[in-house]
Amino acid sequence: MSQIRKLVIVGGGTAGWMAAAALSRVMGTRNYQITLIESDEIGTVGVGEATIPTIQEFNTLLGIDENDFMKAVNGTFKLGIRFDNWSKPGSSYFHPFGVYGVDMGGLNFNHFWMRYHKAGGSGDFGLFNPQTLAARKGRFGRMAEINPQAPNVNYAFHFDASLYAKFLRGYCEKNGVVRQEGKITEVTQHPESGDITSVTLANGQAITGDLFIDCSGFRGLLIEQTLNSGYEDWSKWLPCNRAVAVPCDKVGPATPYTTSTAQEAGWQWRIPLQHRTGNGYVFCDAYMSEDKASDLILQRLDGQAQAEPRVIRFVTGHRKQMWNKNVIAMGLASGFLEPLESTSIWLVQDAITKLLKYFPKERITEIQRTCFNRDMLAAYDNVKDFLIAHYKVTEREDTPFWAYCKHMDIPDSLKFRLESFAEHNAPLVEPTELFKDASWFAVLAGQGMVPKSYSPAADVMPNDEFLWRMQRIREGSAGLADMMPPHETYLAKACPSP
Ligand code: FAD
Repeated sequence: MSQIRKLVIVGGGTAGWMAAAALSRVMGTRNYQITLIESDEIGTVGVGEATIPTIQEFNTLLGIDENDFMKAVNGTFKLGIRFDNWSKPGSSYFHPFGVYGVDMGGLNFNHFWMRYHKAGGSGDFGLFNPQTLAARKGRFGRMAEINPQAPNVNYAFHFDASLYAKFLRGYCEKNGVVRQEGKITEVTQHPESGDITSVTLANGQAITGDLFIDCSGFRGLLIEQTLNSGYEDWSKWLPCNRAVAVPCDKVGPATPYTTSTAQEAGWQWRIPLQHRTGNGYVFCDAYMSEDKASDLILQRLDGQAQAEPRVIRFVTGHRKQMWNKNVIAMGLASGFLEPLESTSIWLVQDAITKLLKYFPKERITEIQRTCFNRDMLAAYDNVKDFLIAHYKVTEREDTPFWAYCKHMDIPDSLKFRLESFAEHNAPLVEPTELFKDASWFAVLAGQGMVPKSYSPAADVMPNDEFLWRMQRIREGSAGLADMMPPHETYLAKACPSP
């Protein structure tokens, strides 16, 4: 019989409710008692509204109907991210979900595109990706509904973070998760092992547990404030440490993509929802004051502001131990990487998957902790390299912030990837990494880094056949995009706002 029975989740933001939902679904509440504690007084961070396609797997795990979910969270569909002004002011490229073209003979399509381009074909590699083409036209539709014979088109969602937490709360409570409102004011540890034994609320109520999931946000109530797990600071590579967020009225149809616009001391996000548009300026306080960033974002909104700008402070990096003693940190309590590629909610999902993989039976072993920490660090590390590449591979030096980024030292792992891409069009991606070749290609080539050469295997096909195939792939991508209706039309039909 398992001795790990009482699971206590501290925090009811996106991370806490995602953890509670998955644990209640997979482990169940018959053998496990799952309690989630959240404080209305403290509230949640209230941002985090753009996702990547892996969230579909999470919905599938929970058995959630996608249209019900989209209605509940005022969601929109997302085909990728448009990056404006990143390589230089006026530039633009699209990082789509999904690959370019079709791999041939086991070789990545990017090599064939290079052959095509070097022989005078269009330099617009977006022509070979249906998501990019649909995004440009403001279209979206699930291919399974439009034409089940057609290849799948990858997509993710934008959603209202507070509605998502509410939606998951309803799901969890139906599954038997006990929600406890209150502020934790005291944490008790076992005198010898140091394991957390209980947390006590301001009203004096003590809640005991065997395993604690710390989803308490940046403060890391258990993992840091109690267990002092330490923090690895990555600010020298990702210097942004502030965000100012402000929602505005929706103007015009919701774009089926997030927009990220490089600005003087960082970048600005634009996330369309059914009922409003989310905006934020992520910046570095060494180059811009909070007041100035707040003024600038207000000037740049495309609709009427719905609230005062709200400043959020953070330090990029991660806890040195994300699983320490009987505490597992998830979400902002485990670390933070800026939302440039919408990866934080995925990191929560990934931590949940890894917890389920290493879930302790009778007692927690050092092996479980070590494996979890190793795997999570790898996930953080890989995303970190990809994010840094966005700042490093740029022609921009027009402000002190961009001059710093362009000339900053970068991790050896990224140096190696960039060299390998520049020389051979191969960014050295491990199979377990989140961002694959197509993503690296989209961002590096999108920011103007053209590889010197490509694999000679791409030159073997006779020219006539090669050009014929490239033309078919282009037409296929355009055909898929053209099959889709306007995004708003699809939304109105599939998941009208509540
Ligand atoms: P929080 O939302 O802060 O929740 C913490 C919870 O802990 C709250 O319920 C709080 O009440 C509770 N709590 C804390 N202390 C106590 C206490 N003493 N007693 C009781 N309860 C307590 N991610 C993406 O994937 N995509 C994005 O586009 C994206 N954009 C972001 C933009 C910004 C500016 C920031 C900062 C983050 C963004 N993220 C994004 C990350 C995303 O917001 C978070 O990963 C996600 O919201 C999870 O937050 P959380 O649940 O860990 O923390």
